[in-house]
Amino acid sequence: MQLTGRNIVGFETFSEGTVAIQSINPATGEALAPLFFKATIDELDLAAEKAEKAFQIYRKKSGFEKANFLEKIAEEIENLGDVLLERYTLESGLPQGRAIGERGRTVGQLRLYAQLLREGSWVNARIDPGMPDRQPLPRVDLRSMERPLGVVGVFGASNFPLAFSVAGGDTTSAFAAGCPVIVKAHPAHLGTSELVGKAVQKAAEATGMPDGVFSMLFDDGHEIGMALVKHPAVKAIGFTGSLKGGKALYDAAVSRPEPIPVYAEMGSINPVFVLPKILAEKGRAIANSYLSSVTLGVGQFCTNPGILFLQNDKDFIDEIEKNAPDTQGGVMLTPGIRDAYIRGTEHSKQYTKVVGIGKAPEGYTAVEPVILHTDIESWNAQPDLAEEIFGPTSLIVEANTKEEILIAAQNLTGHLTATVHGTQEDLEEYSELLDILEQKVGRLIINGLPTGVEVGHAMIHGGPYPATTDSRSTSVGTRAITRFTRPVSFQDFPDALLPDELKNDNPLSIWRMVDGELKK
Ligand code: NAP
Repeated sequence: MQLTGRNIVGFETFSEGTVAIQSINPATGEALAPLFFKATIDELDLAAEKAEKAFQIYRKKSGFEKANFLEKIAEEIENLGDVLLERYTLESGLPQGRAIGERGRTVGQLRLYAQLLREGSWVNARIDPGMPDRQPLPRVDLRSMERPLGVVGVFGASNFPLAFSVAGGDTTSAFAAGCPVIVKAHPAHLGTSELVGKAVQKAAEATGMPDGVFSMLFDDGHEIGMALVKHPAVKAIGFTGSLKGGKALYDAAVSRPEPIPVYAEMGSINPVFVLPKILAEKGRAIANSYLSSVTLGVGQFCTNPGILFLQNDKDFIDEIEKNAPDTQGGVMLTPGIRDAYIRGTEHSKQYTKVVGIGKAPEGYTAVEPVILHTDIESWNAQPDLAEEIFGPTSLIVEANTKEEILIAAQNLTGHLTATVHGTQEDLEEYSELLDILEQKVGRLIINGLPTGVEVGHAMIHGGPYPATTDSRSTSVGTRAITRFTRPVSFQDFPDALLPDELKNDNPLSIWRMVDGELKK
């Protein structure tokens, strides 16, 4: 498929803008053809107008119709074949294996949502049947369920050109909820975005979805993104990226005449704790798995373990010193991300000791892994060390006592994950640590690695601020759907006027809470 560089507005495409932008190949620094046209405010307005109209049709589509749409998107993405994989690797510097894996994850999550929609119980239907004869007052008939919010704005993420971008988790969960989507494509992967955007557009037309259910706009500045957040037609935002960007969009959204929710997934340093007994037993093995987790995907994962706490160690640090020089860095996603990585590691080096520097391959944005070490006193004294450095770096902090470990945990801000390595005895002795960490993160891991986020029904990829702007949700897995819905009660409705999910004879055969009891 030929790339056009045109913005997708419903079933049409436009290039009214006069400013052209290009993706950069991070391995070579070359600008990649073709030119893409920065969207205009008129194009955004048209996308928003179409999306508002589309919402009135799309919100009434059944779970089966929406499931067909999502499955068709998955099929169209697969039909793109090698063209998509080639453009992905050119624009991201990530290897082809990662492109294949991420495509699998993207189509997998579309299909998982299709299953959820066909099963149907996700709407959380609750029925309190009327009791006209109740004394002293009759009870009204009340029925509630989740209904879609309206038009959702989605920002593509730099580090997942497929799974967190145009047809990624935010878009999929918004479509599943019954919401039209306007995507602001990430400027790092314009071609990948156009290919996937065209696949979504084709799937929408093929499955009878309304014009405007999907639009996608290009920009490499903040004008279109900010205007999207402030647009009166938009009712919620999904975002993955930096704390600075996410917070700016959140502030803009809550300052609107009609404030709207922003689900921003931002920085996280994903603390790892290695407890004393397991450190003595398996310190060297844990050191090596930690090194692999830090350097996986050039460290460009939001669950990258940026800090590791341990107590009175020798073997672990020795092992890192021995093996870190053999770790591989790689090409980073963008020159900006590389520069931020170099700035961040140079800044941290001022307050820490370098334990190991890995290898950097050839490449315009290539960097090397950097593993740092410090003591608990220096960690406590230097708050900058707690900031995320996106990339293959991590800081090992050595404490002297259990008390110091607990205080360090207590002082942590919100993160996506926390990992604890411990024997049965360690975990019993440090149960207070688990209790503290549960209040700091969205996912607690025992004896594992934080990288590798399973897409499923029980996954929570979220956490208290600053990991996200709303700790009550997740951006991965099927629970993400309720970010884009709100509950509505229907009181004393005639059966025929109720949504099928709430009708007396349960035509969809879903699980519902009837008078406080779950039944089909
Ligand atoms: P970013 O700078 O936050 O940008 C993400 C998207 O939001 C881009 O489309 C960007 O547009 C837009 N944006 C940012 N600030 C905005 C503002 N004030 N108004 C309107 N739009 C705005 O993230 P990035 O480009 O992916 O990478 C930069 C840094 O983000 C990385 O170095 C890393 O620290 C962090 N990051 C974290 C994660 C994570 O999962 N925790 C993931 C990716 C990146 P423009 O690009 O056009 O400015």
